[in-house]
Amino acid sequence: MRVQSRESSNFEKELPSMLEHIWICACCGRQQNGLPLDFFASAPDQWFTIPEDRLSNPGNRLDENLCMIGGKDFFVRGCVEIPIVDHEKKFIFGLWVSVAEDNFKRVLDLWTADVENEPPIFGLLCNDVSLYPPTLGLKTSVRLRNNNQRPAIILEPTDHPFAIAQQNGVSLAKIEEMVATLLPHR
Ligand SMILES: [Zn+2]
Repeated sequence: MRVQSRESSNFEKELPSMLEHIWICACCGRQQNGLPLDFFASAPDQWFTIPEDRLSNPGNRLDENLCMIGGKDFFVRGCVEIPIVDHEKKFIFGLWVSVAEDNFKRVLDLWTADVENEPPIFGLLCNDVSLYPPTLGLKTSVRLRNNNQRPAIILEPTDHPFAIAQQNGVSLAKIEEMVATLLPHR
């Protein structure tokens, strides 16, 4: 399922997390009975620039968690979690970061290990989240997590609006707006 939202993107909606919340979509005026809180990009943006006939080249690999392009660029999927002001739940962007080859191997080695005390890994954000000014290439720190949870992606605390959203959280009204943009529903 590829979401065709207005300007973006390659976002898809995760199934599990839906906030029970009735709201009126500002774009179409329709009532929505639930607010999905998980969206993800199915691949790093770079993946979508590979010509179709080269996707199956041996250096190119993509699954739900890991990606390699040209045998030399390595990507890990993680979660940028955005707190919702006055709510326990978080809005989650499943996004990709590029990491150094040795860190990529480390992620593989640690896949089922206890990573509680692992130092974070440096990563560059590899998806443009069209709701914000360009996010491609934002610096992040990637923290591995236990219990099959995808790594947490912490954006470098700059004054970029995406980083500010992660630091300060956003209002439920803002989440409605974001979902209206990300969700194909017209
Ligand atoms: Zn709408």
